[in-house]
Amino acid sequence: MAKSTHPAVVHYALEPNAVELREVAVPEIGDDEVLLEVGAVSVCGSDVHQARNTHSWQVNIPVVLGHEFGGTVAQAGRAVRGFREGDRVVSETAARICGECLLCRTGRYNLCPSRKGFGYGIDGAMARWVRVPARCLHRIPDSLPFDLACLAEPHAVAYQAMCVNSTIRPGDLVVVLGPGPIGLLCARMAALSGADPLIVAGLSADAPRLEAAGRLGATRTVDTQTEDLDAVVRSYSAIGADLVCDASGASRPLGMALGLTRPDGQVTKVGWSPETIPLDVNPLVQRNLRIQGSFSHNYPVWERVIHLLDRGLTLPETIVGLRAPLEDWREAFDAMHEGRVIKSVLLPGGLPAV
Ligand SMILES: [Zn+2]
Ligand SMILES: [Zn+2]
Repeated sequence: MAKSTHPAVVHYALEPNAVELREVAVPEIGDDEVLLEVGAVSVCGSDVHQARNTHSWQVNIPVVLGHEFGGTVAQAGRAVRGFREGDRVVSETAARICGECLLCRTGRYNLCPSRKGFGYGIDGAMARWVRVPARCLHRIPDSLPFDLACLAEPHAVAYQAMCVNSTIRPGDLVVVLGPGPIGLLCARMAALSGADPLIVAGLSADAPRLEAAGRLGATRTVDTQTEDLDAVVRSYSAIGADLVCDASGASRPLGMALGLTRPDGQVTKVGWSPETIPLDVNPLVQRNLRIQGSFSHNYPVWERVIHLLDRGLTLPETIVGLRAPLEDWREAFDAMHEGRVIKSVLLPGGLPAV
């Protein structure tokens, strides 16, 4: 690799639309890191939020966006064991952790208080090259193309939320609020876990996403602006849902989620917003509810979702609506923001010849 600079999508100021494609220095790797040639990086709702300055987390500007990615190892540091040049991999997102706290020592390093993730704390993968600690890597089968493998990250978010932090038994009534990429993948994980009925709810503008939910296994979709979701849920079970997953990415639907849940049921919240809300917490006590937040994922979850992706069990093509070269990042972001596609994937090496 002769070049010393490469193109990268950089978030450079904490104001709206402060993102641009820039030539930046190719990163240098440490002994326990690899330099990855990015094969594909998918656009996350959080990338779109950062670009519009509507995010609710701290961003170290300037930073290269992108935390959902896979690629080929181009160079491995001297201390790296188990990976070498030419290996096809995907990467977890906890780019920096302390390695010493209780959470790091018990394999829950994704919750390390010092954690810094790609794309907001550490330079991410919307670039030709990205520097990655070897401990973040997972090998992927040759049969799994990068433009689907990069979806391992949102898959891991959904798997953690529905299969680790929630309990679903076959025949459970599960409701998913919010049919964005994470909500749809949560619905798919619920379907794979045996949820039935499986209700996915969204707004009128979500019509194409609700249609995708049907293909991913929802037994019923609800437009909450034209239908009474509570009545639909109670038409299946008068006491309410066993599990409600709030994947709306907003704060306010949490009250609705509590209302839809049966006594002794569970609410899992994944996705967040800067908005704080007044909330009646009495139903939690009165109906013995469990409310569980879900944040990121760790090693065993990644191994599972890579298997699911490779076997095609999560129907990942259902959510990918746009594949574009890095130069077209803005269109990829806008298409998601405007709801024209569910998920965009950027291919920094360019589009494959068909
Ligand atoms: Zn993401
Ligand atoms: Zn730690």
